[in-house]
Amino acid sequence: MLELHEGDRTMAGLLGGKGAGLAEMSRLGLPVPPGFVVTTEACRAWLSGDGEPDGLWGQIEAAMVDLERRSGLRFGDPAAPLLVSVRSGARFSMPGMMETVLDVGMNDAVAAALVERGEARFAWDSYRRLVQMYGRTVLGVAGALFDDQLTLLRHETGAATDADLDAATLERLTAGFRRLVVERTGEDLPQDPGEQLHRAVIAVFASWNGERARLYRAHEGIADDLGTAVNVVQMVFGNRGERSGSGVCFTRDPVSGAPGVFGDYLPDAQGEDVVSGSRSPMDLSELARREPALHAELSTHLRTLEEHYRDLCDVEFTVERGRLWILQTRLGKRSPAAAFRIAVELVDEGVIDLDEALTRVDGTQLQTLLHPTFATSDGLVPLAHGLAASPGAAHGRLVFDAATAMAWTALGREVVLARPETSPDDFGGLLAARAVITSRGGLTSHAAVVARGLGLTCVTGVEGLVVDPAARVATLPGGVTLPEGTVVSVDGTTGELYAGQREVEPSAVSAAVSEGASPGAVADRTVRAVLTLLAHADLRRHLGVMANAETPEEARAARRFGAEGIGLCRTEHMLLGERRVLVERIVTDDDRAGALAEIEALALTEFTSLLEVMEGLPVVVRLLDPPLHEFLPDLVELSVAAAVAAERGTLDATLERRLSATRRWHESNPMLGLRGVRLLTVLPQIVDAQVRALAEATVALRVAGHDVRPELMVPLVADVAELTAARGRMEAIVADVAEAHHTSLRLPIGVMVELPRAALTASALAEHADFFSFGTNDLTQTSWGMSRDDAEANFLAVYREAGIVATDPFRTLDEAGVGALVAMAARDGRRARPGLGLGACGEHAGDPASIGFFARTGLDYLSCSPPRIPVVRLEAGRQAV
Ligand code: ADP
Ligand code: MG
Ligand code: MG
Repeated sequence: MLELHEGDRTMAGLLGGKGAGLAEMSRLGLPVPPGFVVTTEACRAWLSGDGEPDGLWGQIEAAMVDLERRSGLRFGDPAAPLLVSVRSGARFSMPGMMETVLDVGMNDAVAAALVERGEARFAWDSYRRLVQMYGRTVLGVAGALFDDQLTLLRHETGAATDADLDAATLERLTAGFRRLVVERTGEDLPQDPGEQLHRAVIAVFASWNGERARLYRAHEGIADDLGTAVNVVQMVFGNRGERSGSGVCFTRDPVSGAPGVFGDYLPDAQGEDVVSGSRSPMDLSELARREPALHAELSTHLRTLEEHYRDLCDVEFTVERGRLWILQTRLGKRSPAAAFRIAVELVDEGVIDLDEALTRVDGTQLQTLLHPTFATSDGLVPLAHGLAASPGAAHGRLVFDAATAMAWTALGREVVLARPETSPDDFGGLLAARAVITSRGGLTSHAAVVARGLGLTCVTGVEGLVVDPAARVATLPGGVTLPEGTVVSVDGTTGELYAGQREVEPSAVSAAVSEGASPGAVADRTVRAVLTLLAHADLRRHLGVMANAETPEEARAARRFGAEGIGLCRTEHMLLGERRVLVERIVTDDDRAGALAEIEALALTEFTSLLEVMEGLPVVVRLLDPPLHEFLPDLVELSVAAAVAAERGTLDATLERRLSATRRWHESNPMLGLRGVRLLTVLPQIVDAQVRALAEATVALRVAGHDVRPELMVPLVADVAELTAARGRMEAIVADVAEAHHTSLRLPIGVMVELPRAALTASALAEHADFFSFGTNDLTQTSWGMSRDDAEANFLAVYREAGIVATDPFRTLDEAGVGALVAMAARDGRRARPGLGLGACGEHAGDPASIGFFARTGLDYLSCSPPRIPVVRLEAGRQAV
């Protein structure tokens, strides 16, 4: 237990983020109502199942006595009632994911006294809120049942919003809510404020394990055992008439990153009315007009906070009869575009340096900015406008509830979730949807805040949109109806909604990065910021960044994005498709020499153009890797064809030869079969042709004065003897070619480390390899013994659900297992051969969450697909500061 004025912002582990923020603001002298914090330690004790920690309630009672002293009010005293809020707040911000109960301490006696003093409306509004929140949070009555009563009463009395309900109606509502609670639970709201408080604290503890809190933690990678703190804070009342109100604001624009205070304000409302979007709030500029002194005071506090935290802050505030109170602050969630802009503008303002700015953004955010936007040229007219709450361009089929969003997404459909407003219960639907639109709510509504955090396209407050989830239809003015399943496009950057599927085009960031634009020459502040931070990341990073690329077009794209070479040129594309027959002819010995000559000629042309594009940079050519199986006809089809032919008496020698060869090489598990270095050993002619072509291309280009730097890479090696045999053969071919041209040539030869046995015998391999490239896709498959193609559908999804694996090991490198093999092979390899080159070229090399591991393991470079290159450059830079 800690009083707010005793803590500070470094204590988030114990006090939760909200408690630490409140404590820090108290220390800064900001107007924070007094209160105290029940620490996360108490919650953890409670969560461990040992019941309530000894003495907890006694400590809370003592803290309440102190709070009464400081507030000059008394808990449960009708003459001078103290009400409190009981608020969750974990170490890491989980906005709206846990519970809060407001107005604790209200009861019949307090309400009656307030009515007597002429504050009937305030009294019943606060009372019905307590019954509603206590009923839902402590007693487990479904929130929708309260909302239904409220909606019904609004209709009955012709009130447009809750704010228009008068005292008598609110009194009826309070009674109705209490009846509902009694009907559902058999108990009434306790009249004893102590009991209210005690049970509210425990309910907040319990909300740590609520379903949406668990979902959110799984998504954000927050540990499940941290627990929440409980903040008990004196209530201040925004619902106390016209000169009262509540608001949410940011020290800068969290959507675009533009400087200047930004936010929403609702007169005569309690805080959760602003976030829930049940009424449309006014802009802060409107507050400035109505209450200039108050707005000025708020602006001063916001400046203090931003200077103190040296970053964008968001703030919850309440005005009670003209007096300003700050109720919460934290580092503000921001869109990816805003993150870059704010980081760099804080550097311009001299608040932070470039290294720190680099830590304020990440590769996942950059990835979103590289996503395409809608084509500006298609001339389509929007169906409707709303608020640009979270940037992005997305299309999908309209759905009107979270459950349908999740179900349809599971079927592989892209969906756009449309709601009147969203609540924390919709979180699963938000995770599933491509975009979310709401008919109500502002830029700080629940939908807007969550979407920005997720990088999800979002438009809120769509004008004229009426969403009817029960009827599964939305309508717009002018008789436009949009039934469930209608395809729409949502532009979160402009706030526009379109019918149908709009065409997308590359993002401005992507264009600027690939043009190599200089930051100074760019007008757009976000683009300028991305370029600035990429340049700084390049300066800092130790990891090289190469591309996985095969064609000259891909190679050119890779260079434009900043690749320092090709780390993986797969060669199978040269032999798949129609050219598959060339391999078949070799296997069936049907003019084998002719087929080999064709393969070599093809390879010569392709290698030549690729090397030309990559002049001055290394190009790592991986020899033929896929199973032979993939180049051969389907055994069943061929057998049927042969049987039919035999029946008709047309079975010829060619068909018979094809059938017997296909049978001969048939494998029941080709991914663990004749592929990679094994193919090179059993059927060496194809790879010989590839090596000869690469050597010929190199000699010819060098003679013509080009600086080309090819390297060879052998896939799927398990044992050093495979490597030495392959290496001997390749070196002989290279030497032959060189000799024929009266020159000398040495091509570096490396190994793909993608089998556990290769990692285990890395010292031996290193003696015969110029470099290792970790093929972490295959290494993950073979370490876990599971196939990437089947695992997800059949059991990985279940594993994640059950918490057996936290993330998909094919997406984010499994550091404990696969990572241990990589680290060991890197260490042993370097010991055996100092200066051994080390790279990685699987999917993980382009995954922002895996790059830190590769950097710590001391790899020289990562090789990823060209569009990922900026992401890897940025992450590699971040890892180095
Ligand atoms: P969340 O973490 O979901 O934002 P909070 O604990 O911040 O939950 O509280 C929910 C709402 O109640 C917020 O709008 C907050 O500003 C308001 N609130 C919390 N404590 C008080 C208080 N002591 N007086 C007035 N309003 C409060
Ligand atoms: Mg809050
Ligand atoms: Mg592989």
